[in-house]
Amino acid sequence: MNQADEKVLRDEVDKRRTFAIISHPDAGKTTLTEKLLLFGGAIRLAGTVKARKASKHATSDWMEIEKQRGISVTSSVMQFDYDGHRINILDTPGHQDFSEDTYRTLTAADSAVMLIDVAKGVEAQTIKLFQVCAKRGIPIFTFINKLDREGQSPFDLMEELEQVLGIRSVPMNWPIGMGRELNGIYDRMKNQVELFQGDDHSQIKVQKVEDYRDPIIKEMAGEYHANQLVEELELLDVAGDPFDYEKVKRGELTPVFFGSAINNFGLQTFLQNFLELAPKPAPRRSTEGEIEPVREKFSGYVFKIQANMNPAHRDRIAFLRIVSGKFERGMSVKHVRVGKDIKLAQPQQFLAQDRDIVETAYAGDIIGLFDPGIFRIGDSLVEGQSFEFEELPTFSPEIFAKVTAKNALKHKQYQKGIDQLTEEGTIQVFRTVSFDDTILGVVGQLQFEVFEYRMKNEYGVDVQLQRQSFQFARWIVAPEIDPSKFRINSTLVKDKKGNYVALFENEYAMRTAIDKNPDARFLEMAP
Ligand code: GDP
Repeated sequence: MNQADEKVLRDEVDKRRTFAIISHPDAGKTTLTEKLLLFGGAIRLAGTVKARKASKHATSDWMEIEKQRGISVTSSVMQFDYDGHRINILDTPGHQDFSEDTYRTLTAADSAVMLIDVAKGVEAQTIKLFQVCAKRGIPIFTFINKLDREGQSPFDLMEELEQVLGIRSVPMNWPIGMGRELNGIYDRMKNQVELFQGDDHSQIKVQKVEDYRDPIIKEMAGEYHANQLVEELELLDVAGDPFDYEKVKRGELTPVFFGSAINNFGLQTFLQNFLELAPKPAPRRSTEGEIEPVREKFSGYVFKIQANMNPAHRDRIAFLRIVSGKFERGMSVKHVRVGKDIKLAQPQQFLAQDRDIVETAYAGDIIGLFDPGIFRIGDSLVEGQSFEFEELPTFSPEIFAKVTAKNALKHKQYQKGIDQLTEEGTIQVFRTVSFDDTILGVVGQLQFEVFEYRMKNEYGVDVQLQRQSFQFARWIVAPEIDPSKFRINSTLVKDKKGNYVALFENEYAMRTAIDKNPDARFLEMAP
């Protein structure tokens, strides 16, 4: 690579920020996403993302189930420019749409924004998504939303982050008053006050101050609120964690921002600080060691496959995270698993509005590849010397069902369907050690629906799913495994690679098994 090209690549990588917003449904993710897109000028009207979320599209690009549920494919990834940065937001679907894909998507992010409702605090889905991010050790930024409503005190929320998630926090700003009494926000890093004005708080006045004791705050926010601010921030100065960028980068300390997405409170400061602190595209591990984003040659891996987007054509889109180099439309790359060169002819990039054909893209970007059925989750596409990226983790399923074909004569298609859909990552499959039953495991109910639908439509097999009462799965690593120790409210199964996995009906059964097998390790992800 000549020096000029090298500089272009380095600059392109430096300006990229690829992150996911993790939250529990209703915390305000759609609203926040939309406001960020508005800042970037990627959409003009608030309500657009929401409208997409709610509307039922008739376009051919929808899988039947998606049509019924109104899940947007195009909002899987959103890209926009702001303040010299190129931002990629990865969507993590919530609620009924929650699936293993949601977890896998997080492997494509370099950082996460954890969105929390000021009144509800840390909720169930946030905990799950947080844990996946925490395992990867990526930086996590916290945005406490809905400050215009009555909620918990900032100190209680910080305590909750530590108690429930085990992460220390450092407030970057601090609310002046709360709920109906919310006057504004004090920016601890820049030492400035953002004061809300007008009856509807629609205007924001920004005032630089000496520090939080500056008497001018009294004039602006009133004596009561100013005194409270001093009291709280003095406490924070003494008892709180100092800002430590190294800890933030390792995911050990989360910078916390307070605000209100719907009212634009604190959003701009959040975005600016976030872009400054969030990491640029990070290297990924491979069979050739770490692959740096500024490596000249293109490489990337598939982390999600959106299948059957058009039932008439059965085409799919494989989502690829670019790990290194520059992507150019029409380029030839090696599909390492199958050992063939393929041409990337019709790649798509995802914007808030429409899908665009992408001409060039760089490390950190996500592109959608038209997939006639040649890709699997975890596939590596590389230019030049061949290598493979580290396998994507398998996440612990929480919902289980015994599966059988309604028509035993269709056994062949049934088996083929199960094998392929497992390979694609649609479901996880297990076999019971005792009866050789087939048990499917998923993290979200939607995965069962997709499985049933695809078995019928692609393999012509009607399946019967019988829900099982297990709630936890743990991979067991032990010198010896005694099946008799997994009988009470649990069962022993093997995954597709032959690893032993124990399924438990409740936490008590799991505890008991752990106690009874002191030599074994019980893992939440496949070893
Ligand atoms: P999602 O399910 O996380 O995508 O949440 P939405 O963005 O759809 O928001 C859920 C609800 O919370 C909607 O009624 C929003 O209007 C509301 N909401 C979002 N942000 C705020 C906020 O800052 N303050 C208040 N009061 N409501 C908000």
